[in-house]
Amino acid sequence: MKRLSVLLALVAAFGLSAAGAQTTQPLPKAALTKYVILVLTDGLRWQEVYRGADSTLLRRKYVQDTTALKREFWRDTPQARREALLPFLWGTVSRRGQLFGDSASGSVAQIMNRFRFSYPGYSETFTGFFDPRIDSNGYAPNPNTTVFEWLNRDAALKGRVAAYATWNAFRRIINTERSGVPVYDGWDRGVPAGNDVVNSAMRNVYRDHTKLWPDVAFDAPMQQVLRSALQREWPRVLFVGYGETDEYAHSGRYDMYLRSAQQVDRYLAELWDRVQRDPRTRNRTTLLVSTDHGRGWGDEWTDHGEKVEGAQYIWSAVIGPDTPPLGVRVNTPTQQAQMAATIAALLGRDWRKAEPRAAPALPIFR
Ligand SMILES: [Zn+2]
Repeated sequence: MKRLSVLLALVAAFGLSAAGAQTTQPLPKAALTKYVILVLTDGLRWQEVYRGADSTLLRRKYVQDTTALKREFWRDTPQARREALLPFLWGTVSRRGQLFGDSASGSVAQIMNRFRFSYPGYSETFTGFFDPRIDSNGYAPNPNTTVFEWLNRDAALKGRVAAYATWNAFRRIINTERSGVPVYDGWDRGVPAGNDVVNSAMRNVYRDHTKLWPDVAFDAPMQQVLRSALQREWPRVLFVGYGETDEYAHSGRYDMYLRSAQQVDRYLAELWDRVQRDPRTRNRTTLLVSTDHGRGWGDEWTDHGEKVEGAQYIWSAVIGPDTPPLGVRVNTPTQQAQMAATIAALLGRDWRKAEPRAAPALPIFR
């Protein structure tokens, strides 16, 4: 026992000095981040994120106007294609942040839940572990505490955690009733209380829309509600959930899938620009981006689920003041379940102390 503790002390001391020697200015983990934003866009494949538009899917079966779509998204190399599709991710995040999930770089990102659809994926992301009880998108309010609920109980963060999403399941996934985390989601509950001009107008927009999907609102009105809310106040912990990428994929519309992915990239660029212009949040905010599940290969791209091979692979990205600009991470496999502890660690808190089942934080820190 004694020998072991001496050994551990040596390892700790050596480990510390080695880490100190690596950086010019030793920095405690996540010393600068005060605000965390997590953005998930539903069911956007790692294939499009890393390789851009897929030539085998740019055909009449999935695309209304193939000539127009090729003009928008087809380029000669995967690098040029992904930059055309996601210019913020590949122009800004890849240069100043980090990306995970590139299988070609030995960095697969996997989900643990075997169901490979949304509620289990979001729950795994927010809690840090797979709970096999959560086996349907219609599942009851989450029996597990999410990292959002836990942070919302923290005296310094209470009332400063909020979620905006287009899918109306998030109130259950974050368990608003128990957690007290405000969740603005779906067509009916997308707008916060209050009758200022924007909120009143947005309530009309949500109500008046011809609803393409009953349980998922369009991304654009949600974005407008979010813009307006951020003008009033910045949550310390913000979740944003976009849904069109998944819905258009299920409809077999590769054109709309790509366009909605590109639109999410524009939203991210706008959000990051706003973060970096606002003196409260500038250089004090970490933005995390990911998805809830992957999709199948080839013609199975429209689908995901337990029997769809490939839907277990995802991707993620991060940019912020505590994250060195390592770009596409090499030989660094990760898991969806690591996100919850990452969010907490960015705010100097240890989620695994509260939830021992949770996976460790992503290796994003100095
Ligand atoms: Zn889906």
